Amino acid sequence: MTPWESEYTSLLGAVAAHWLSAGPFMFDIGPGWIGLVRECHQAVVSEFPHYSLRAVEQKEAELAFHAWPLPWGPQDCAGSSNQAWHIQDRQLHRITYRFAARSQSVCERCGQPGTPRETRPSWDMVLCDRCELAVPEDFIERVRQLQDYMQAFTL
Ligand SMILES: [Zn+2]
Repeated sequence: MTPWESEYTSLLGAVAAHWLSAGPFMFDIGPGWIGLVRECHQAVVSEFPHYSLRAVEQKEAELAFHAWPLPWGPQDCAGSSNQAWHIQDRQLHRITYRFAARSQSVCERCGQPGTPRETRPSWDMVLCDRCELAVPEDFIERVRQLQDYMQAFTL
């Protein structure tokens, strides 16, 4: 197991209790953001101990930490029309926006200071100068091909 794999495993363990019970879960960030996501989770859980998490992903070169302030369930569908729920939701988003803003200056590959790069045809990323050279221009197409390949062998 590489150091990154153990970091991922540890982070997935830390957030496991917060995943939506219905799934499927999406956890799709580069290793350079593991620390940032861990900090974001800690900031959210300290104010919303029972928050629920739908997805953690990179979206347009920014960390998207999709969470709700409360456990998700039938009661929350009713709760979403509730004023108190909306106040909590805004508070939670104030936290996640802070980390989204920070992610714009952290290399998603290595965690060093980086800047948003629009140098790939269909996928913007935050990278440092060194990682900008290391990530192939067509990397996302390769990832998608690999996913198709894996899917073909999934029983
Ligand atoms: Zn880097």
